[in-house]
Amino acid sequence: MTERGRKFLEIGVSALIAAALGVLFWHQSRNHLDFYNSGFREMMGTFTQITVAARDEQQAQGFIDTAFELMKQINREMNDHDPNSPISQLSLTAHLQPVAVSPELVEVIETSLYYSKLSDGAFDITVGPETQLWRRMQKTGQKPSDDELSEARSKVGYEKLILDKANRTVKFAVEGMKLDVGAIAKGYAVDLAVKILQERGAVGGMVDIGGNIRCFGTGPGKGGLWLIGLQDPRKDNAILLKLRLNEMSVATSGDYRRFAVIGGQSYSHIINPRSAGSVKELASVSVIAPLAVDADALSTTVSVLGKEKGLALIERLKDTAAIVMTTQEPGKMIQTPGTERFVEKE
Ligand code: AMP
Ligand code: MG
Repeated sequence: MTERGRKFLEIGVSALIAAALGVLFWHQSRNHLDFYNSGFREMMGTFTQITVAARDEQQAQGFIDTAFELMKQINREMNDHDPNSPISQLSLTAHLQPVAVSPELVEVIETSLYYSKLSDGAFDITVGPETQLWRRMQKTGQKPSDDELSEARSKVGYEKLILDKANRTVKFAVEGMKLDVGAIAKGYAVDLAVKILQERGAVGGMVDIGGNIRCFGTGPGKGGLWLIGLQDPRKDNAILLKLRLNEMSVATSGDYRRFAVIGGQSYSHIINPRSAGSVKELASVSVIAPLAVDADALSTTVSVLGKEKGLALIERLKDTAAIVMTTQEPGKMIQTPGTERFVEKE
């Protein structure tokens, strides 16, 4: 797929709101509230949009600018694609001594460790050495050698990541470890953006970073809800189903937005940390949960665990639901019972 095609698909993730695509700032009234949309902006390697309820355009612009500024800060710190970001820098020296990290990174690491334990290592932000190999493969078209894979595997493992919450430091047990928070940072940034919008007085809003979506307060849809369309992973621009959400988040992980094709085979950017191989079973996983950070971490976790184990995990969690599609049966959605109340019936 071309870079443009890929970006287009990403935009399709929140396709209903994306009716505004191409318009920089749209505005709609409902129940005496005005809704303003930022249009899509590039952020965290994907497309981001914010919709807010506001008194007028000036107030909306203020809300939107504040939230984008905050998300940019998070990206500057946690972007492991940037060799100068704090997260990349800490990976160079954390095997030598504890490295001081921000309160935000402490939170992200703490939540990540929680999901690593919950999933028995399927979710793991120490997966960096393996994702590095995957990224190189995407650029060069060459698969990593067995030696490279086993070398990378020896540097991956959440139990080798030592977080000292009280002193706000991070230490690595092994040299060559590398943090990659790409599976959780977007959701975390969405939650922070929602918090600041609420603090600034927005009575309703929706933040979407590349398919990590959270909405709060009054929305523009029927009954004040937010209508969110999930992209069909196998059909360009087709919506799989529509969700009606409020005070909820939904995150989608999939093999269709970022992948490499080598020898006719497609490789997902989501890695099973134990094998260092790309995951294959699920084409897309959407998780609905109150917080975006949890939905983000869990959609990646379920992608690694696969249908049976992944959905069993989701069913054990409170207020959490999932919709998955396997690569073998495109078009067939498998949902946990908890999704029913969110799905829009035509
Ligand atoms: P997402 O799109 O939220 O599912 O995140 C996928 C990204 O998270 C990848 O591009 C990698 O940077 C990183 N990643 C890949 N595999 C894992 C994993 N098993 N656990 C945590 N992060 C991962
Ligand atoms: Mg994720």
